[in-house]
Amino acid sequence: MTVRSTIPAPMSGAPAAPAPAAAAAGAGGGVGVGLGGSALGRAWSDIEAAVLLVTCLPLEQRLAEAGLPETERLTRCPKCGQKLLANHHAVLCDACEASPPPWTALVTLGPYADPLAPIVREIKNRPWPELADRTGRILGQRLAARLTAAGVHGPLVLLIPVPTSRLRILYRGIDHPAAIARGMCRGLRELHAEATSPSGNLTAYLAPLLSRRWRWRQAGLAAWRRKENVQGTMTPPRLGGLTGRFVPTLSARIARKVAQARQQGRPVVAVVVDDVVTTGATAREACRAGRAALSQQGISVRLWWVASVARADLPSV
Ligand SMILES: [Zn+2]
Repeated sequence: MTVRSTIPAPMSGAPAAPAPAAAAAGAGGGVGVGLGGSALGRAWSDIEAAVLLVTCLPLEQRLAEAGLPETERLTRCPKCGQKLLANHHAVLCDACEASPPPWTALVTLGPYADPLAPIVREIKNRPWPELADRTGRILGQRLAARLTAAGVHGPLVLLIPVPTSRLRILYRGIDHPAAIARGMCRGLRELHAEATSPSGNLTAYLAPLLSRRWRWRQAGLAAWRRKENVQGTMTPPRLGGLTGRFVPTLSARIARKVAQARQQGRPVVAVVVDDVVTTGATAREACRAGRAALSQQGISVRLWWVASVARADLPSV
């Protein structure tokens, strides 16, 4: 009997052995770095395949087999991920040249198409965080590789999830950017724990700095309306009642770690985390609000990056 579950293999919670392609990609900072490579993980995958006859491949294998070409970014704007025409000679696209995004680079696992599109849809529409966690781990490890490639060695990374409104969390049953960011945090810490980690003294902390007022979903809106729709929706959480005061959202412990990193001369990188980046309007608003939230606690971060599971080409999504 074949067990055909609607839940893809990653939801099983079992670590999976990376395919050879994944392992090769891992060497270059691609998917599958350091995940599921243990003897226990391989044994569990074998059991899964032999006994359950699982019909869906493990997440790392699905991503690796899909290619997710890192080299593709050479034909894309490094800030927003939009395609550049063959005759486009500037590094950035026209939109980013005209209004530069406040982040240095965008890190994604690939285009919003198979196999990432169904993964993203499943992450945001099912109240189970396991798939978000595993996807986040892979994204975190790609972020580490990109930081190293960009010459950012031994950074302290603050992972700032794009906030979701309370109404939307209730409706979906999951705060999916936060779940992805938690997975990234775990992935970065696992990488750091490896003796041969190329990322050096990298440390990562989850920094859910922001809350969000409900507005219409960005997806489905025209590009020109997205900026207007998201503007001013993100703030640090406020104390309730009459005070209206903001809550200091970065814990005293993490604030001390930031101060220590500065004293040690290590770079501090704030990374805005989301599921899909399209126009970058949401990421811009998160950067603006995140800067404001940090500055309320006397912290100024110059280096901002954006990490998103997928990037969508206009006018899709
Ligand atoms: Zn651009």
